[in-house]
Amino acid sequence: MDNAHLKKYAELLVRSGGNVQSGQLVVIGCGVEDAYFARLVQECAYDAGAKDVVMNWFDDVSVRNRYLRANSSVFDEFPQWRVDWYKHHDDRGAVYLHIDSSDPDYLSGVDPDRLRRFSKVSSMATKAHSALTMSNALRWSVCAVPSPAWAKKVFPGVPDAVDKLWAAILKGARADGSDPIADWKTHSENFTNRVEYLNRMRFDALRITTGLGTDLTIGLAKNHIWAGGGDIGKDGVPFFPNLPTEEIFTMPDRMRADGRVVASMPLSRQGNLIEGFEMTFKDGLVVSYKAEKNEQTLADIFTMDEGAKRLGEVALVADSSPISRMGTLFYNTLFDENASSHLALGKAYPNNMEGSAEMAEEERVAAGCNDSLVHVDFMFGTPDMKVVGISADGHETVFFENGEFV
Ligand code: ZN
Ligand code: ZN
Repeated sequence: MDNAHLKKYAELLVRSGGNVQSGQLVVIGCGVEDAYFARLVQECAYDAGAKDVVMNWFDDVSVRNRYLRANSSVFDEFPQWRVDWYKHHDDRGAVYLHIDSSDPDYLSGVDPDRLRRFSKVSSMATKAHSALTMSNALRWSVCAVPSPAWAKKVFPGVPDAVDKLWAAILKGARADGSDPIADWKTHSENFTNRVEYLNRMRFDALRITTGLGTDLTIGLAKNHIWAGGGDIGKDGVPFFPNLPTEEIFTMPDRMRADGRVVASMPLSRQGNLIEGFEMTFKDGLVVSYKAEKNEQTLADIFTMDEGAKRLGEVALVADSSPISRMGTLFYNTLFDENASSHLALGKAYPNNMEGSAEMAEEERVAAGCNDSLVHVDFMFGTPDMKVVGISADGHETVFFENGEFV
C-alpha cells in the first residue's frame, strides 16, 4: 500500500478514532511486525498535539511459544506490574489506540485449558482498566492492518495477499477515499436518524427472524439506549472506538431472551473456527447449543461464568455496508462483526443503559445489564433478516426487513 494512503489511515485513527487532544497521553498497542504503521500513527499523534506517545509492542509468535513451552503454573497468574502499567496510564487519562493484525490461527493447537485459565486471570486482573474503556471514561480506538500470516489466511494462494487485504481493509473501513476524515463525518451523521428513531420508539423487545432458522425474541433492558456511528467520551469529546463501525447496538435485558439463534458466519476464537453453530435461549440463558465444528471451543465460552451464557449486546448491521458487500470472511471480529447483525455473549456496554454511570454494579445487573469476564460477538444476520420492534403494550413495528433498515 502506498505511503499516502497509509498516512491518511493513520491520521483517521488518531484524529477521528481516538480523537487525540492537545497535551494528551497516547498509548499505541501494535504487533512488532507492523512497526512501520505504528510509527506512522505515533508521528500523527505527536502532530495532533499528544504530550507523549507510549509504544506497547506485542508479538503473537512469542505468545504462542509461551503457551506451548512455559511451565503450566504461569497461566494462573497475571503479573502485578502489568496491572500497575495500565493503572499508570489510566490515571493520566491516556487514549488507547490499538492496531490489530493477529494471525487468526496463532493459538491453534495450544492447550485450551491454558488459554482458558490465562484468559480468566487476565480478564480479572485488568477488570478496572476494561471498565474505564467500556464506559468511555477513557477514549480508545481499534483499527486493523494486514500481517502476512493474516493475509494468507483470508486470501490463500494469492501472491499479493497483503496488498489485497490492505485494499479490503481500507475499503471496509471507509478509508480508501481522498479525505477519510470527512467521509467518516458523513458516515456518522447517517447513523444519527436511525439511532434517534430507535431511541424514540422505546421498544420493550425485538423479534428477529432469518431464513437460516433464527427466531429469537430479545427483551431490551428497561432503560436501554441505542448507539452507533461513534461515541462520546466522559469528557464530552467524540470518538470512534472501532474503525470500521457499521453497527447500531443496544443492551438486551440479561434475563429475557427466548428462542433459537443460528449463526450466519463462523466464529474465530483462540485460533479455532467454530462453524455451523446455533444456540437456544430460555429466560435469557443459553439452555442448549451445538456446532458442526469446534463445539468444545464454544462450550469453553459458557464455562467462563454465568454472564457468558447471557446476552450483552444486540447489534444491527445493514446488508448494504461495504464489508457485507465484499462477502469476505476476515477471520477478525472487528471486520466480521461489521459485516452482519450480531449478538454478544457476556459483558454489556454500561453506556447502553441510561443512568448506569451513577449505579453500583449490582444495581446495573439487577436492571438487566449483563456482567461477565468475556464479551464474544457472533454473527447471525442474513440478507433476508427481519426485525420487529414490540412495544410494552404489545404493538408491533417492522423496522428492519430484507437485511436493511426500513
Ligand atoms: Zn457490536
Ligand atoms: Zn460486541
